[in-house]
Amino acid sequence: MAAKGPRESITLECTECKRRNYTTSKNKRNNTERLEVAKYCKYCKKRTIHKETK
Ligand SMILES: [Zn+2]
Repeated sequence: MAAKGPRESITLECTECKRRNYTTSKNKRNNTERLEVAKYCKYCKKRTIHKETK
């Protein structure tokens, strides 16, 4: 599968403890808005909203 479009690697930060728990990548062409995803935070010991950070 050939990569197309500009892919940007991003970091996901827990909105509660502000720790950076995940890194991922997204296609900027498809996702122009800031990524926001519910993921398990091992520091908060629960699922929290993780937001894209730079
Ligand atoms: Zn957290």
